Amino acid sequence: MSNIVTALQSKFDNTTVLTDLQDMAKYVTDWPGKLTGKALAVARPSSTEEVAAVVKLALGHGTPIVPQSGNTGVAGGSVPDDSGAAIVLSLERMNKIRDISPSAMTMTVEAGCVLETLHETVEAQNLFFPLNFGAKGSCMIGGNLATNAGGQNVLRYGNTRELCLGIEAVLPDGRIVNLLSGLRKDNTGYDLRDLFIGSEGTLGVITAATMKLFHLPKARATSFAVVPDISHGLELLNRAQAETGGAVEAFELIPRVFMEIIQEYAPQHNIPFDKIPDLCVLIEIATTSDTEAVADADGVVPIFSKLEKILANGFEDGIVQDAVIASSEAQRREMWDMREGALEAVTAAGVWIGFDISLPLDQVHAFVDEITQRADAIVPELRMCHMGHLGDGNLHYTIFSPEDGAEESTSNADAIKAAVYDAIADFGGSFSAEHGIGTTKLYAMTNYKDPVALAVMQQIKAALDPKGIMNPGKLLPQ
Ligand SMILES: Cc1cc2nc3c(=O)[nH]c(=O)nc-3n(C[C@H](O)[C@H](O)[C@H](O)COP(=O)(O)OP(=O)(O)OC[C@H]3O[C@@H](n4cnc5c(N)ncnc54)[C@H](O)[C@@H]3O)c2cc1C
Repeated sequence: MSNIVTALQSKFDNTTVLTDLQDMAKYVTDWPGKLTGKALAVARPSSTEEVAAVVKLALGHGTPIVPQSGNTGVAGGSVPDDSGAAIVLSLERMNKIRDISPSAMTMTVEAGCVLETLHETVEAQNLFFPLNFGAKGSCMIGGNLATNAGGQNVLRYGNTRELCLGIEAVLPDGRIVNLLSGLRKDNTGYDLRDLFIGSEGTLGVITAATMKLFHLPKARATSFAVVPDISHGLELLNRAQAETGGAVEAFELIPRVFMEIIQEYAPQHNIPFDKIPDLCVLIEIATTSDTEAVADADGVVPIFSKLEKILANGFEDGIVQDAVIASSEAQRREMWDMREGALEAVTAAGVWIGFDISLPLDQVHAFVDEITQRADAIVPELRMCHMGHLGDGNLHYTIFSPEDGAEESTSNADAIKAAVYDAIADFGGSFSAEHGIGTTKLYAMTNYKDPVALAVMQQIKAALDPKGIMNPGKLLPQ
């Protein structure tokens, strides 16, 4: 038995330290089920002090640590490799809400709080935490911070980084750095909080955070609108922003291929059109004001008529071709369930190559046209799906397994990846918009990240983690 395991077992009980292979199984396989590694043990500390104790023991034994929260990451960062040399440090038992302040509009929560639990807890107090996406029932705030997660409400509220006011973390040498604060302004040197956000477990373990809260919207108007192309879709977004004073909460791109996949692989979801359109957007506007949320004497709810008017004007100008507005909360939920089921449906359809990319908004249309041509030149008539958070210029660009067996050809896959990454660089985009680097994007990190930026990141890593114990082999090429 390894020394680190003995050391952990002598300090903690057997609910905190798991060593049985069956007990460890769910911690060593990633969400898509593609990556399975091995771990010496899984440590499940219940407090920041216990996290620090685990880190100190691991440092003493030179044992790599893989921090893990909800294990829903899709870049391979949350699971150990197959060397069997690492321990997994799960934050799942650090799930206390330490404080909610309705007057300061903040909450201080531990890393293992499940996102959906946070939603429900603050909504019971008429408050709103806007970070939201399909994995909300399993992902945890520590993982959201470590990946700087995005999702469907970034357009209005920002990504996880923008929602975070303060962080508590355990450094790779076991010291606890307490930057928890609800301060909106704090210019006291380098922003270490921002250093931990998006660091994917490579600089330390996030144990708690202070996050911003918002007023809970009183009404939301939601529609699937058919648009002629991406550029017209963006025009609809800009008009809706102007008309609502920036109250567009979400603006998602849904192409035909996605709806076909839903029909085939997730038929429990309702397609809101008789005939699947080529391209539509899912638009949602929201209000926290009674004036817009409460029905007038004729039963008209102003926020709904506002959305109807935006869509009707768009129809007259050829920006919108058809639209369905959710007439009840149940219908709205159905629309979002379909959108949030995307990753599962697309995974079931057999992803061959998947990308999570971002582009300047005014380049998205041209990029999609260009990459379709470039990929077609390598493997003709591939089935591609460019859905995503259009309001943020973020596409989850997926190419499905070709029927003729071309997926066997690694060289084709490599050529397509290179074509996409080259095109992203040509169009001024990013090869990782919101899922992070993990292990799956190391190739792009090596070849497409600004070399000076990469070198500075390596220097920061070496300064904070000279023994390289924090999630080695993830995020930074070695
Ligand atoms: C159905 C589905 C839909 C999704 N949709 C979106 C989406 O719309 N937008 C989006 O951004 N992502 C999305 N994701 C990806 C994923 O849910 C996010 O990356 C999420 O933030 C990961 O959180 P987690 O708690 O599961 O982290 P984990 O998977 O446990 O970890 C992710 C990374 O963070 C590190 N880490 C975890 N916890 C800590 C900690 N406390 N301290 C330091 N490092 C830590 C891990 O080592 C790993 O590198 C989706 C995933 C699924 C399965």
